[in-house]
Amino acid sequence: MITIVVGLQWGDEGKGKVIDFLSQEHDIIVRFQGGANAGHTVYLDDQPLIFHLLPTGLHRQGKTGVIGPGVVLDIQQLVQEIREMEKYAGSLEGRLWIDPRTALVLPVHQAEDGWEEELKGGVGSTRRGIGPTYRDVYARLGLRVGDLFHPETLKHKLKVALDFNNQILGARYGKPPFLVETVYPQLLEWAEVIRPFVEDTHWFLRSALKANRAILFEGAQGTLLDIFFGTYPYVTSSHTLASGALISLGIGPKEVDRIYGVTKAYTTRVGKGPFPTELKGEQGTILRERGHEYGATTGRPRRCGWLDLVLLKYAVSLNGVTRLAVTKVDVLAGLPEVKVATSYRLDGQDRRVPPASSEDLERVQPLYQTFPGWNEFPRPSQKEDLPEPLQRYLTYIEEFVEVPIGFISYGRRTDEILAIFES
Ligand code: GDP
Repeated sequence: MITIVVGLQWGDEGKGKVIDFLSQEHDIIVRFQGGANAGHTVYLDDQPLIFHLLPTGLHRQGKTGVIGPGVVLDIQQLVQEIREMEKYAGSLEGRLWIDPRTALVLPVHQAEDGWEEELKGGVGSTRRGIGPTYRDVYARLGLRVGDLFHPETLKHKLKVALDFNNQILGARYGKPPFLVETVYPQLLEWAEVIRPFVEDTHWFLRSALKANRAILFEGAQGTLLDIFFGTYPYVTSSHTLASGALISLGIGPKEVDRIYGVTKAYTTRVGKGPFPTELKGEQGTILRERGHEYGATTGRPRRCGWLDLVLLKYAVSLNGVTRLAVTKVDVLAGLPEVKVATSYRLDGQDRRVPPASSEDLERVQPLYQTFPGWNEFPRPSQKEDLPEPLQRYLTYIEEFVEVPIGFISYGRRTDEILAIFES
């Protein structure tokens, strides 16, 4: 059984929490794209656990994590995360598998990413080297995890990759080169740490499927950051859509059972790019403070605004979402009224679908539907226990995007979630 969970906005929707909740009923959790630019936060009690590269849910005994070929791997970060997790959950050997096809993020990629941001103000990169690594993958210069175990070819491939990247460093940024003599021994050292975890994950998942094990694909970033369908160029460099999971692990489209899309009850985005429902004044600040809207990976303050149903419906369409998870409804509690965008006005015309170009999306004027607010509420055990205005708000969302809500999250802890539909 395969479940895919993706974010439907610009990331930070609370996927980590939803995935942690769902991991309880799954055996294997798979990261399929992105890299250490993700920061999925889980609160079991008041201490946060942040997952950058390790699949969320690995703190739970008996769960297996997979890192698939669509991911780009910063080994230094991974090694640090493995060590931290092992302090908490014991040895991960035998329950973490990394595909040998996974591309390596090199220190030179991180340096380039940072300098590119400095040079042109950038696209809001987390400076983790993700973009330059994917570029090298597509330029067929990338180093892969499997290369680490063939020292001679590793050295040759490293030389080719560094030659290319050092030319960029020198010519574009005026920076000194990265040397094979320093990077190569470092790679060999990291290779030994991750050796026990390397496995062909396609075949691992194939036998897991045959054995009827439940597999959860964990999306990172969000739909509107997808390299093709997001608000280009203010996007990430990978396929964040549910279909990205299929490409990354070599799974057929008909093998997927459930596609869950996570959205906040409002909207946030980090960095630049169009954001039609952004609240720039005091109301935005209220959402930011109440929702603790600061990045888990970068600490950057997030831009905040109302829920945009035009974009949400687009995201639902792009992923083929079967159930919605709506998070952070508690953050809106206490507001006198809440709004959702239901259409846009652009060049004198009303439209119910977003324009494909970011330049046009920058220019749209959202038209809103206003709802009465709701107050804080005690732990619900069914939808009917929620305050009536919140129920109406949620029903409106479901009807607008034509997908039922399966999960309502009303607090940061994993157990603060109402599952309306669980199969
Ligand atoms: P992700 O990258 O999509 O996993 O999202 P982040 O971890 O960056 O941001 C989500 C933040 O919101 C985390 O700190 C979560 O603990 C928190 N969170 C998730 N769901 C809820 C919720 O329903 N209410 C509140 N107040 N916080 C939540």
